Amino acid sequence: MHDLLPDDEALFEHVVGTATRVARSFDYHLIRTPIVEDAGVFLRTAGDESDIVSKEMYLFEDRGGDRLALRPEGTAGVARAYLEHGMASRPQPVRLFYWGPFFRYDRPQAGRYRQLHQFGVECIGDASPEADVEVIELQREIYRALGLTDLVLRVNSIGTAATRRAYEDALRKHFEPHLATLSADSRRRFQTNVLRILDSKEDAGHEAVRTAPSILEHLSVEDMAHWDRVGALLDDLDMAYEVDPRIVRGLDYYTHTVWEFEPRSAGGQSTVGAGGRYDGLIEAIGGPATPGVGWASGIERLMLNISGEPGGESGVATAALDAITVPLGSDGVRACLRAAAVLRAAGYAVRNGTPGRSMRAALRSADASGARFAVIAGDREAAAGTVQLKTLTGSGEQVEVPLDELAARLAEDAQG
Ligand code: ATP
Ligand code: MG
Repeated sequence: MHDLLPDDEALFEHVVGTATRVARSFDYHLIRTPIVEDAGVFLRTAGDESDIVSKEMYLFEDRGGDRLALRPEGTAGVARAYLEHGMASRPQPVRLFYWGPFFRYDRPQAGRYRQLHQFGVECIGDASPEADVEVIELQREIYRALGLTDLVLRVNSIGTAATRRAYEDALRKHFEPHLATLSADSRRRFQTNVLRILDSKEDAGHEAVRTAPSILEHLSVEDMAHWDRVGALLDDLDMAYEVDPRIVRGLDYYTHTVWEFEPRSAGGQSTVGAGGRYDGLIEAIGGPATPGVGWASGIERLMLNISGEPGGESGVATAALDAITVPLGSDGVRACLRAAAVLRAAGYAVRNGTPGRSMRAALRSADASGARFAVIAGDREAAAGTVQLKTLTGSGEQVEVPLDELAARLAEDAQG
């Protein structure tokens, strides 16, 4: 788990702020679910063979003996809230977005943490291919607004549960002769959920994985209609995509359309965001059959990609400091505190200068602070109800200003 330091904050806020603005422009609404959920919410939905359930979930018992989990992903909690708050009786679909911390006992490496942050959206109560394309378009628009244009969209359809059963038989036949050379994980998956061999990180380059039959050849007529419509709508919106029959997604509740966005140069380990349709999920947590579709994007991964791009951070500035005070003498300290309060009330960011320093040392630290102005007061200014306002950029001009004109004076300078 890692700390997000003040230096990271501007970029973090830029990512979340941009994503929020774009999500709102598609009429999505923020939902905040708890970080801790009943473990069953994830155990019943993610599938025993998902990485999340088999090895990544933080599980614990509370004092009452209930089994809880730190949320490893957002969709199951949002679906739980949808059910619990009767959102099915609202006009459908319900359009939601979320962001916050998630927890996975992952192997730490660049862009992979045990506390990560995700931004995600869910469109619940709409089974149409149009809903799939709406959330993909929203995702692409967020990336575009962040300046991430060199991403590849890879799409696949995994049909419905019935489709997958037929496909699994074909996969088992295909993998059987190769079992000896596949990883231990894949050998276990061969028994429990053969589809997930395609999703194995260890065996990603294995010949048998690369030559596996495609699920697209096993889609039913209805699956095919959904899939064709998604392709046609993506074309209409000029969204370039590649069909990748090996995308099956880490979680077992997905149906039909599944996809990932990845930097063109990356080799499959740095997906910035991934999504899918999950028509079976709400039933799995005890609700009525309810379709849904959504995606989640790793905020740290987005930050890495933005700062890796030339000019990627342009427009992301740390909050600028407007003024720093230079308190001289004990009455000067009080005058400076008053001046700072007046400026903050007018919306300016002001740092209190450290009292007891020489003028020279105080001005040196004022210069280093990056503030536009130094507000200087000693005992004389305190008695006169004024401060000395010194411009720290450019001319270095210094004028005496009555306290009650100080905010107006800063505003004037910002214009001129
Ligand atoms: P991966 O195959 O990289 O493990 P995943 O299938 O586990 O990804 P999802 O569950 O789809 O990932 O999560 C959505 C997004 O969250 C990912 O595309 C990635 O950007 C981000 N993400 C996932 N795990 C981590 C992590 N441990 N640290 C940082 N970001 C992560
Ligand atoms: Mg993972």
